[in-house]
Amino acid sequence: MSVKTIKNILKNHKLRITDCRIDVMNQFLNSKSALSQSDLEGEFDQYDRVTLYRTLNSFLESGIIHKIPNNQGTATYGLCHDTCEPHNHHHNHIHFKCNNCGQIECFDDREVPMVSIPTGYQIESVNLIVDGTCANCA
Ligand SMILES: [Zn+2]
Ligand SMILES: [Zn+2]
Repeated sequence: MSVKTIKNILKNHKLRITDCRIDVMNQFLNSKSALSQSDLEGEFDQYDRVTLYRTLNSFLESGIIHKIPNNQGTATYGLCHDTCEPHNHHHNHIHFKCNNCGQIECFDDREVPMVSIPTGYQIESVNLIVDGTCANCA
Protein backbone atom coordinates (compact mmCIF):
# COMPACT_ATOMS: atom_id res chain seq x y z
CA MET A 1 0.00 0.00 0.00
CA SER A 2 1.51 3.36 -1.01
CA VAL A 3 1.93 6.32 1.30
CA LYS A 4 -0.49 8.18 -0.95
CA THR A 5 -3.21 5.58 -0.36
CA ILE A 6 -2.59 5.72 3.38
CA LYS A 7 -2.81 9.51 3.35
CA ASN A 8 -6.13 9.20 1.55
CA ILE A 9 -7.46 6.80 4.16
CA LEU A 10 -6.48 9.27 6.90
CA LYS A 11 -8.04 12.15 4.98
CA ASN A 12 -11.26 10.22 4.45
CA HIS A 13 -11.46 9.74 8.18
CA LYS A 14 -10.74 13.43 8.76
CA LEU A 15 -7.49 12.71 10.54
CA ARG A 16 -4.50 14.99 10.36
CA ILE A 17 -1.59 13.31 8.60
CA THR A 18 1.39 12.60 10.85
CA ASP A 19 4.38 10.28 10.39
CA CYS A 20 3.22 8.16 13.27
CA ARG A 21 -0.28 7.73 11.83
CA ILE A 22 1.17 6.80 8.45
CA ASP A 23 3.53 4.23 9.96
CA VAL A 24 0.94 2.68 12.24
CA MET A 25 -1.63 2.52 9.45
CA ASN A 26 0.93 0.85 7.22
CA GLN A 27 1.65 -1.69 9.94
CA PHE A 28 -2.04 -2.57 10.23
CA LEU A 29 -2.42 -2.90 6.49
CA ASN A 30 0.57 -5.22 6.26
CA SER A 31 -0.31 -7.36 9.21
CA LYS A 32 -2.58 -10.35 8.89
CA SER A 33 -3.10 -10.47 12.62
CA ALA A 34 -4.41 -7.94 15.10
CA LEU A 35 -1.90 -5.65 16.79
CA SER A 36 -1.49 -4.47 20.35
CA GLN A 37 0.10 -1.31 21.64
CA SER A 38 3.17 -3.30 22.69
CA ASP A 39 3.51 -4.80 19.20
CA LEU A 40 3.69 -1.25 17.89
CA GLU A 41 6.11 -0.17 20.61
CA GLY A 42 8.38 -3.02 19.55
CA GLU A 43 8.14 -1.99 15.93
CA PHE A 44 8.62 1.75 16.23
CA ASP A 45 11.12 2.94 18.79
CA GLN A 46 11.06 6.41 17.26
CA TYR A 47 7.59 7.03 18.77
CA ASP A 48 6.94 7.11 22.49
CA ARG A 49 4.13 5.23 24.19
CA VAL A 50 1.89 8.26 24.49
CA THR A 51 2.15 9.06 20.80
CA LEU A 52 1.32 5.47 19.87
CA TYR A 53 -1.53 5.39 22.36
CA ARG A 54 -3.01 8.57 20.93
CA THR A 55 -2.61 7.28 17.40
CA LEU A 56 -4.46 4.08 18.27
CA ASN A 57 -7.17 6.10 19.99
CA SER A 58 -7.67 8.39 17.01
CA PHE A 59 -7.95 5.35 14.73
CA LEU A 60 -10.39 3.76 17.13
CA GLU A 61 -12.58 6.84 17.30
CA SER A 62 -12.66 7.34 13.56
CA GLY A 63 -13.59 3.78 12.76
CA ILE A 64 -10.29 2.68 11.23
CA ILE A 65 -9.62 -0.02 13.80
CA HIS A 66 -11.70 -1.88 16.38
CA LYS A 67 -10.78 -3.14 19.79
CA ILE A 68 -10.72 -6.88 20.28
CA PRO A 69 -11.25 -7.69 23.93
CA ASN A 70 -9.33 -10.62 25.27
CA ASN A 71 -9.21 -12.25 28.64
CA GLN A 72 -5.57 -11.36 29.23
CA GLY A 73 -6.42 -7.74 29.86
CA THR A 74 -4.33 -6.49 26.95
CA ALA A 75 -6.16 -4.85 24.11
CA THR A 76 -5.54 -5.87 20.55
CA TYR A 77 -6.78 -3.95 17.57
CA GLY A 78 -7.97 -5.15 14.20
CA LEU A 79 -8.44 -3.18 11.03
CA CYS A 80 -12.02 -2.24 10.24
CA HIS A 81 -13.46 -2.89 6.86
CA ASP A 82 -15.62 -0.61 4.76
CA THR A 83 -18.68 -0.66 6.97
CA CYS A 84 -17.35 1.33 9.92
CA GLU A 85 -18.05 4.95 10.58
CA PRO A 86 -17.06 7.03 13.57
CA HIS A 87 -19.03 5.89 16.61
CA ASN A 88 -20.85 3.36 14.52
CA HIS A 89 -18.73 0.27 14.45
CA HIS A 90 -20.24 -2.89 13.12
CA HIS A 91 -18.33 -5.84 14.36
CA ASN A 92 -20.14 -9.02 14.53
CA HIS A 93 -17.35 -11.10 13.15
CA ILE A 94 -15.53 -13.87 14.91
CA HIS A 95 -12.02 -13.42 16.28
CA PHE A 96 -9.57 -16.25 16.45
CA LYS A 97 -6.71 -16.56 18.90
CA CYS A 98 -3.94 -19.04 18.24
CA ASN A 99 -2.79 -20.79 21.39
CA ASN A 100 0.55 -21.55 19.81
CA CYS A 101 1.78 -18.23 18.37
CA GLY A 102 -0.63 -16.01 20.29
CA GLN A 103 -1.77 -14.09 17.24
CA ILE A 104 -5.32 -12.82 17.02
CA GLU A 105 -7.04 -12.62 13.66
CA CYS A 106 -10.31 -11.13 12.43
CA PHE A 107 -12.52 -13.47 10.47
CA ASP A 108 -14.34 -10.67 8.68
CA ASP A 109 -16.52 -12.99 6.67
CA ARG A 110 -17.60 -15.13 9.62
CA GLU A 111 -20.46 -13.70 11.62
CA VAL A 112 -21.01 -14.28 15.28
CA PRO A 113 -24.06 -16.54 15.60
CA MET A 114 -27.25 -15.07 17.05
CA VAL A 115 -27.28 -15.22 20.81
CA SER A 116 -30.42 -15.39 22.86
CA ILE A 117 -30.77 -13.34 26.04
CA PRO A 118 -33.73 -12.89 28.43
CA THR A 119 -36.52 -10.45 27.60
CA GLY A 120 -35.90 -6.96 28.92
CA TYR A 121 -32.19 -6.93 28.06
CA GLN A 122 -30.68 -5.24 25.04
CA ILE A 123 -27.57 -6.40 23.26
CA GLU A 124 -25.07 -3.74 22.35
CA SER A 125 -22.29 -5.95 21.14
CA VAL A 126 -21.30 -9.58 21.16
CA ASN A 127 -17.68 -10.58 21.26
CA LEU A 128 -16.65 -14.03 20.37
CA ILE A 129 -13.07 -15.20 20.50
CA VAL A 130 -12.46 -18.68 19.29
CA ASP A 131 -9.13 -20.18 20.23
CA GLY A 132 -7.15 -23.03 18.80
CA THR A 133 -4.37 -23.46 16.28
CA CYS A 134 -4.05 -21.07 13.37
CA ALA A 135 -3.43 -22.13 9.79
CA ASN A 136 0.21 -21.06 10.09
CA CYS A 137 0.90 -23.19 13.13
CA ALA A 138 -1.20 -26.20 12.18
ZN1 LIG B 1 -0.43 -19.62 15.23
ZN1 LIG C 1 -12.07 -7.96 14.09
